[in-house]
Order: sequence, then C-alpha cells, then structure tokens
Amino acid sequence: MHWPKLSTTTIRQKVFDALHKNLNYTTESILGLPGTYLDQEQFYDSPFLKEAPFLSVLMNNPNHIGCHTYSQGEMYFSGTQQLEIDLLRICAEEIFGAEESGYDGYVAPGGTEANIQAQWMYRNYFMQEKNAGTSEIGVVFSEDAHYSVYKGANLLGIHPIAVKVNHNDRKVLLEDLHKQLKESYDKGIRYLIIHLSMGTTIFGSIDEPQSFLEVVKQYFEHYFVHVDAAFGGFIYPFSAQKTDLTFRNPEISSITIDGHKMLQSPYGTGIFLCRKGLIEKVQTPEAAYVYGSDFTLCGSRSGANAISIWMILMTHGSEGWTEIIQKLTGLTDYLCNALDEMGVKYYRNPYMNIVAIDSNDVSEELAKQYYLVADNYKNPQWWKVVVMAHVKQPMIDDFLQDLKKERKQPELTS
Ligand SMILES: *Cc1c(COP(=O)(O)O)cnc(C)c1O
Repeated sequence: MHWPKLSTTTIRQKVFDALHKNLNYTTESILGLPGTYLDQEQFYDSPFLKEAPFLSVLMNNPNHIGCHTYSQGEMYFSGTQQLEIDLLRICAEEIFGAEESGYDGYVAPGGTEANIQAQWMYRNYFMQEKNAGTSEIGVVFSEDAHYSVYKGANLLGIHPIAVKVNHNDRKVLLEDLHKQLKESYDKGIRYLIIHLSMGTTIFGSIDEPQSFLEVVKQYFEHYFVHVDAAFGGFIYPFSAQKTDLTFRNPEISSITIDGHKMLQSPYGTGIFLCRKGLIEKVQTPEAAYVYGSDFTLCGSRSGANAISIWMILMTHGSEGWTEIIQKLTGLTDYLCNALDEMGVKYYRNPYMNIVAIDSNDVSEELAKQYYLVADNYKNPQWWKVVVMAHVKQPMIDDFLQDLKKERKQPELTS
C-alpha cells in the first residue's frame, strides 16, 4: 500500500488547479444549470480564502452528481471530479487491493447510504438477471452489524436475517447461521446478500468470511458479499498484517468506508466501492437530464466532501496515516493492559481502537461520566470506549483512576 504525502502548499495548489478546471458561476455565462455558488451575503469572499482550498471549493459549490469512475458524469465540474476519482483509486486500489480500474464508486453522504446502495445493487441484480422476486431475497449479517442493514432491507423489501454471536468473543455462531439459513431457504429465500463487518460499531469486531461462506454455500448458490468497513476501513487495513475482507478476496464484491468516522473528515464523507459490472444495476435511465446518467442513491452531492477526504489522505500519506493508527491502537493497548491488571472484563479486537467493558465491571454512573456508549440502553451489557483522535493518555488515566476507586467499593458496582 502506498500513496505519497504532499506538502500543504502542493495540496492547496492542486485543489485550486482543480477548481479552475471547473465551470465558474462567477465568470461564465451559465444559464441552464439548476446550481450556483453559496449565498454570497452569508458566505462572502475574503482574503483568507486564498489560503483555504476546502472552503473555496465549498463556496464554489461544485456538484459531483453521478458516478465518475463509470462515465464522464456532469462535465461542468471535471476538475474537482478528477480529485474524487483519485481518492477512489487510493481507497480501492491501495487500501482495499482492487485491480487497476477494476471498480466503480462514489463519495456518498455516509456509511448508511453506501450500505443501502450495495443492497439495492444486488437486489436489482437478482431481480433483473435471475428474475427473482423480493420475497426470495435475503440479507444475512451478524447481530452486531450496524442497524443501517435493517434500514436497507426495510426500504428494499427484502428479508433481514440476523445471526447470533458468541457473547464473549463476538464471533458469529456458525450453528445459528446454519439454523437461520435453513429456515430462510425453507421460507423460499433463494438469493442472498451477505453483509460482513470490518469493525462493528459497538465492539470493533471483524467478521471472518471463510467460515461464514462455507456455511452459506451449503444452502445457497447465488449470493454477493458486501463488506461494511464504515468504521474499520481507515484502521484495520493499516494495523493488521492480513485481512481477507478486501477486493483481493474474489468473494468480495463491494465495500463501504466512512471518512467521517476515523479519518476526521466532515460529515457527508461515506465511500461506496464495488467491482466493475455491478453498478449498472442501479442506473436510473430516467435521469435523462443528468449528463452521464446517475447511479447513486443520493443524486446531487457536494464536491467539497470528496476534496476534504482527498486533502486529508494527501496530508499524511500512507506512512503517516499508518503511524497515526499505530498510535491510536497503542493507546488502546495501554488502556487494555491497565484493565487486565485490574481484572476488568472487556472485549477488544487487538487491531482496533474500541474496548467494550463488561457492564458488571463498571458502574453506569462512571460510564455516563465519561460518555461511554452502551450496546443497548434498555439493558446495557457492555459500555464501550473508542480511542479517537481527541482521546489522550491523561484522559484515559483519569478514567482508570476513577474505575480503580469504585472497584475498591464493590457495593457501588453491579
Ligand atoms: C457508522 C457506521 C455506519 C453508518 O454510517 P453513517 O455514516 O453514520 O451513515 C455503518 N456501518 C458501521 C459499521 C458504522 O460504524
């Protein structure tokens, strides 16, 4: 995996160069487009904007509607769209091992849309290519998967199939997978979307595709595998030596990543990626006024979002980003070592920055004081710590000290 680190000056130059290749609402006679720059009374020009490439793109307001790995898309904003293409190349090829130009994708509003986009694409594939009805299509996932998988199934009218996990190690229970798939088959499900997670939201657990697919193949001939790396996509490939949840695994057809979780980009920076030959299934031919057609769920989307992810990746380079992730997982190690010494029970994947603490070992009061998140607020079994960029060692030390204190007074816990 490699992409270079660029200086602030070079990044700024490249973004302004891209912006200058776009149509400019200020200087050109643009009569037909239903778009324009941001409100100029509120967002007025100011000398500092010459130093602020992201804000300049935001104010110029390029629309990245469409899918630019597939077709030219709206040609009016080709400059900034080219940076989106470069960003998608880095994510698909460098981070997730896709073959050169072997993928399509776009910067989506978030991981939720990217997950729904995947389900939509596979549902339509089964309907168009296999003549399937929606009642014959299911989506299978671990009970720790993100709830957006239910949203998608609900919207698309397909069957959600949640598989139980083992309480302590959060691994999918293969005997439950057998049971659920058999029941689904008996109910008439013939086509399966497999939703695997690279980093679940609450536990940071990583699904294992091989054992899962071995079971699937005993019941189903037709399936596609989607990887939800919304949380783990900018962590796990940088911390773990090996992963079979990338495009290097021929079983995997699409991936969701979120810039706005770990990469510290603004909200609105999900990323959807899929192998070539699939995104056509969600082409909307009726989008006749969109030059290059539309293949996305959202339609219009700001080019500034794509630029923000590109700028962050270029600021660090692959080596710099790897170091950042090493620091975060190192700090997570530090927390876990201290919990081990105290005999506190928790779940953690060693390559991730999430620690889910058993609710018997921390009081709700302390959990709330530090804004820990429960797996389930009605009946919390786990409280999770996420070691994000703003989490520093002194903060963790304070928490550990308070935890030690309350464990000396056992009547306060449990
Ligand atoms: C956050 C998250 C999502 C949803 O992403 P949004 O950007 O909030 O829409 C999906 N999957 C996982 C694993 C997540 O952590």
